[in-house]
Order: sequence, then structure tokens, then C-alpha cells
Amino acid sequence: MKESLMKNVIPIAWNERIPFECCRCGACCRHVKDSVPLESLDIYRLAKYLKNRGEYSASISDMLSQYAQPVLLHECGYFIYTLKTVGDDDTCIFLKNNLCTIQPAKPRACRTYPLVAEPDGTSSFNYYLSIEKPRHFTGEKFKARNWMRQYFTQEDREFIQMDFSSALPIAQLLKKIPAIRKTEALLDFMACKYTDFHLEQPFLEQYEQNNKRLTASLKALIH
Ligand code: SF4
Ligand code: SF4
Repeated sequence: MKESLMKNVIPIAWNERIPFECCRCGACCRHVKDSVPLESLDIYRLAKYLKNRGEYSASISDMLSQYAQPVLLHECGYFIYTLKTVGDDDTCIFLKNNLCTIQPAKPRACRTYPLVAEPDGTSSFNYYLSIEKPRHFTGEKFKARNWMRQYFTQEDREFIQMDFSSALPIAQLLKKIPAIRKTEALLDFMACKYTDFHLEQPFLEQYEQNNKRLTASLKALIH
């Protein structure tokens, strides 16, 4: 298994047993400025969840303005979203009284924590253990395989593979966009990647269509 570019993680085997007991100290939800990714599928699920709770803003864009912030991944303009933080200790905006207030719709990174999955470049994944906050490595042992089967869904897997394989081609197209059309390209990028989804329709088909639409639109903007 290859080393990950992520910090504070170590590779783990699928069969490995890890002692873990959460005392709900909330430490993993503090000092998380720019570090809890809200992926496209997370955004769709969160919007649906907030809508069902009657707390949905007027649109996915408005919800993102309220709870997330864009973080530039590459100078070509490729950006991701991360959850906003509040207070001097950069606490996740959704943590209240040491509890996550969006538990059923928390992002993938939080759901699989302390395990992390990364595409291995084929159709499979490498798995890692986050060792940054070690206080929970105590108590009963769980098997990495069982943990990921429970918290890393088939929809997550298909989305990540799609996202991973489309990222480089899209970044390469963004690099070629003339400066005069950059704003238009980034608006298309934002819509297709993050906001242009119907919550009553399944996510994956829409994401696939949006990626095709984005590719065509960026190609048209280059010429
Ligand atoms: S840091 Fe560990 S023990 Fe504390 S809330 Fe997070 S998972 Fe639980
Ligand atoms: S979404 Fe929930 S679990 Fe994730 S960092 Fe925020 S409060 Fe913690």
C-alpha cells in the first residue's frame, strides 16, 4: 500500500483490528479550520437533511454560503468546500454541546473517522488511520473492514471514483481557459460540481451528467 499525501495518517490493512471508544469530547470537531471537506455528495445529502428538518435555505448555494467556504486547491481555479468554523478554537459550525447537530448527514470524512479511504488509482481504495487525536484508541476493538462496510456506502464509493477520475481532466481544462472567460468557467464549475442538483432525484446520475456538461462547457470556453 502506498503512503498517503495526507498528514497524520498511517496505512491500515482491511483486516486490522483497532481499539476505539468515543468519549464525546468533541476534540475531533475543534481546530478544524479548512479541514473538514464537504464533497459534492455531502452537500447534496446535507441539503436534503436540512430540507427535511425545515431548515433548508432557498437554494444549495445559499446553504453553502451559510455553512461552508470555498478553498482553492489549485491556481487553475479548482476549488473544494470545507465546513465553516466558529470561535477562537475554530470549532465546526455544526458542533453544539460537544455533539454533532447533523449526525445523520455529517460529511463522509466525519462518518468514517478515524478511518480514511483514498482511491488507489484502480477501482479500489487504500485505507488509512488518522492518528492526530489518539485519546479514543482504547476500549473494544473494531475491524477496519466492518467499520468501512458500515460507514462507507456504495454510493460514497461510486461518487469518489467518479470524482477522482474527473478531477485531473477538469483541472487541465480550467488551466487552458483564457482569463477573460475565467469567471464564466468558474461559475459553470461551481454549478456542475456543487449546486446544480435536484434533491428529489438520485445523486449519482446527476453528478455524471453534470461532469459531462461541465467538460463540454469548458471545452467551448477554451475556443
Ligand atoms: S476526538 Fe475521539 S473521543 Fe473525542 S469526540 Fe472525536 S472521536 Fe470521540
Ligand atoms: S460535521 Fe459534525 S462530526 Fe463533522 S466536524 Fe462538524 S460537528 Fe464534528
